[in-house]
Amino acid sequence: MVILNDRCNGCGVCVPYCPVGALSLDAARRRVVVDGSLCTDCYVCIRHACARKAFEPGALPGFGDVFRHVLSDPTETMAETGVPGRGTEESKTNDVTGRVRRGEFGLCVDMGRPGVGVRLRDVDRVARAVVAAGLKLERPTVSPLGMVVEDLETGRLREDVLDQHLLSIIIEGKAPLDRLGSVLEALRRVEAEVETVFSVGLVMRADEGLSPSLREELDRLGIEYPFRAKVNVGLGRPLAEP
Ligand code: SF4
Ligand code: SF4
Repeated sequence: MVILNDRCNGCGVCVPYCPVGALSLDAARRRVVVDGSLCTDCYVCIRHACARKAFEPGALPGFGDVFRHVLSDPTETMAETGVPGRGTEESKTNDVTGRVRRGEFGLCVDMGRPGVGVRLRDVDRVARAVVAAGLKLERPTVSPLGMVVEDLETGRLREDVLDQHLLSIIIEGKAPLDRLGSVLEALRRVEAEVETVFSVGLVMRADEGLSPSLREELDRLGIEYPFRAKVNVGLGRPLAEP
């Protein structure tokens, strides 16, 4: 993100617009400054924050910079997945995608939030923890994270992107139901090691209900399980048979 100093009058209106707190006011010099280590290049400030049009996109010289921008800007579409921003054909639309089969569970770890953001270094930690516990990560054609995973077998991310700061990103995968406890315990352990927040979505086929073994595992771990449902009427038949 670049600020055109000759247009900025230091009014400060733009500061609260930034979802990761990268903007601050330099009162002495009567202009706004951007912390480049926090900026996600989401372009919110360009679109909405300044009547004087003092913001301009900066250069995105490397793969990691482009990835950061596309994942953080919901008006961008990732060519590999065909879905805008960080979005995915998530396993929560399993009635159409058929990704989670009987005897499996799907996991969505939604890392980062407005106001916090997420470094890919922390995503690397969480991805490696859940893969070691038995989760199989989704591929790049389905999930944007796959584009920066160096090794799907370990969940390790590309070294050159680890410092990138994004608004949020989703770790997606699936595993046999008997790995549920170890995956959730791995998330419990790793949450203390990351400098961001994440929420966890657990996905399974609705036509089976919540199986007794799944309930027992969640109870054993002391995890509440609110039921939420989304009905996508008319989206068609599952692409894959169970
Ligand atoms: S960039 Fe625009 S909104 Fe922000 S302080 Fe400068 S003039 Fe005001
Ligand atoms: S591009 Fe986004 S993250 Fe960067 S300064 Fe503007 S609003 Fe903040």
